[in-house]
Amino acid sequence: MSIDLYGLPVSQVVGVKGKKLEELHTLGISSVGQLLDYYPFRYEDYTLRDLTEVKDGDKITVQAKIVGIPQLQMYGRTKSRMTCKVMVDTWFVTTVWFNRHFMKDKLASGAELVLTGKWDQKRSQLTVTEAEIPGQGNSQTGTLQPVYSLTAALTQKWFRQITRQALLQFAELIPEVLPAELLRRYDLLPRKTAVSLLHMPGDLARGQRARRRMVYEELFLFQLKMQAYRALNHKRADGVAHPVDLPAVRTFVRSLPFTLTDSQKKVTAEILDDLQQPYCMNRLLQGDVGAGKTVVAAISLFAVVKAGYQGALMVPTEILAEQHKRSLDRLFEPYGIQTALLTGSLTAKQRREVLASMQMGLVDIVVGTHALIQEDVFFRALGLVVTDEQHRFGVNQRSVLRRKGMNPDVLSMTATPIPRTLAITAFGDLDVSTLRELPKGRKPILTYSVPHSLLERVLGFISREVEAGRQAYVICPLIEESEKLDVQNAIDIHAQLQFAFPAYRVGLLHGRMNPSEKDEIMREFSEGRVHVLVSTTVIEVGVDVPNSTLMIVYDADRFGLSQLHQLRGRVGRGEHQSYCVLIADPKNEVGKERMKAMTDTNDGFEIARRDLELRGPGDFFGTKQSGVPDFRLADMVVDFETMEQARDDAAELVRLADFWTGAPYLPLRAFLQREHIFDSDLLD
Ligand code: ADP
Ligand code: MG
Repeated sequence: MSIDLYGLPVSQVVGVKGKKLEELHTLGISSVGQLLDYYPFRYEDYTLRDLTEVKDGDKITVQAKIVGIPQLQMYGRTKSRMTCKVMVDTWFVTTVWFNRHFMKDKLASGAELVLTGKWDQKRSQLTVTEAEIPGQGNSQTGTLQPVYSLTAALTQKWFRQITRQALLQFAELIPEVLPAELLRRYDLLPRKTAVSLLHMPGDLARGQRARRRMVYEELFLFQLKMQAYRALNHKRADGVAHPVDLPAVRTFVRSLPFTLTDSQKKVTAEILDDLQQPYCMNRLLQGDVGAGKTVVAAISLFAVVKAGYQGALMVPTEILAEQHKRSLDRLFEPYGIQTALLTGSLTAKQRREVLASMQMGLVDIVVGTHALIQEDVFFRALGLVVTDEQHRFGVNQRSVLRRKGMNPDVLSMTATPIPRTLAITAFGDLDVSTLRELPKGRKPILTYSVPHSLLERVLGFISREVEAGRQAYVICPLIEESEKLDVQNAIDIHAQLQFAFPAYRVGLLHGRMNPSEKDEIMREFSEGRVHVLVSTTVIEVGVDVPNSTLMIVYDADRFGLSQLHQLRGRVGRGEHQSYCVLIADPKNEVGKERMKAMTDTNDGFEIARRDLELRGPGDFFGTKQSGVPDFRLADMVVDFETMEQARDDAAELVRLADFWTGAPYLPLRAFLQREHIFDSDLLD
């Protein structure tokens, strides 16, 4: 029987007691296992350097011989500056010491010292921060020293000492968790070696090897949790199997005004298959803007209605709800499928009527905003919930809606393409379907970034497109935290443009308009009666008017990258060449990176990757998206590929019957149990 290091109090480590023990507790370290898992966040490099290889400004450690006489200047009683000439190899170097006058005696001519400090190449000068006399015990010279994140009451030196002590006493007892075949496959260090090396790497190469092993482990265990959860969830069979009438679905698909792309066919098949299974579908459909997600949703809803159930389509804005309702009606009309709209702007009476017919099953499909998930909303037989622009809905909202029906299947659609790795990280318990291609015949949108001084020419662009029968969007500057100013901007720009183009109809859309006004202007725009639509970002997602070919964004450098990509996605939806003009301040450095990303690529996945790089994962998902795990060593951007690998490995493992029963996997099953993924009976 092996000792459980997590059950062993940290006071078992020689030298850990009293006040220091309490300090460890405040760091969350109460067991030996937790101490060993408390990894350094960086290393100080004390390896001896050769002056021919260092750069100006580097922090370096060198072996030096004192050749001059120290010159000391005191400023008051504690402050001082001291200089002293030394030799490093064959080089003369001036050392500078601040407030270290107590070292003066050590700087005797001919003495050897190991000095660490900041290197000034031009002056051949080293500002010393640490000095060691070689040959004395417990030397840090020539090594990497771990740096831990500690409370003020603990010193790095003490913490290094006790982790070393803990390793001495307990390293041999650190159990392996990864299956042997994975260690072999990736040439990973055994766990006990890796943990030891993380604390005392010796050199960078070994530290990196240790890190590689622990990063893989961290990501693998995370993914195992997700994959096991999913596998068990599927087995639980608590959903409803909806019998899909395939011939009817085929007829419906054939009646569409276009043929599906291969991607659309593939994801539709995945969804239809899920609908027929007795477990709850929980699927994320992601695809770039314009990839054609709506029709996939429509087919899925059609299938569920044909199976005798109701469907719900939940969207973030009323404009989108109206648009979806219109396009679903067009498609479903010949099949006698009843749709209804449920938004916040219905009158009380209208709302009562809609709710009643939903409950009686007179309505097959309800399209709505968050009004769909209020307390008093009930369905007769809710079979499928589709959420469009999924990232706009909180996890809670989704589950509220889910609880309303008969454990409906859930399809979440997002047009903010999340790199696959991140999708499976943040939404690891979801199945992910991806639309990889755009419908045929689309021409890539041409994107330009221009300074404000070229506004005249931009306006010329508008008239060129409108004269050719196309339409244009003009997005107004975003004034952070002031919707009022946003609206004022939109009103001003609308007036200017209407003045500049007296022959065209210039429309205005902003958040302060009432829903019926918004609906009216959107309808006019989609019917081509409004030529230029001046808008705030309310049209950011989902709006689909294929005849519009020009997207102009004022003050584009104020917008986030994925937001810009969303806006650009409003054009390029039909067969005409489309353009996106970003008006940006060329002097704004942050903005410049984003403009470059936008002009470099049309690929939403690439944009998402750059966005992630520019902002970091925390920001990328927003603080509210709590699904993103906080890894200790792994970095979702840097360790991108490892994450994918770990995911595939974990998925493969849980498919193995042996995994759920075999002795070699007991540690992993124990891990899953500690994480409350399943009940103890699977451990027998
Ligand atoms: P998104 O994925 O951004 O929600 P939409 O579903 O709004 O995209 O589709 C964008 C446009 O492409 C719509 O006008 C839609 O009718 C059209 N579309 C969808 N699928 C196809 C297809 N297979 N062939 C041609 N056009 C398509
Ligand atoms: Mg859409």
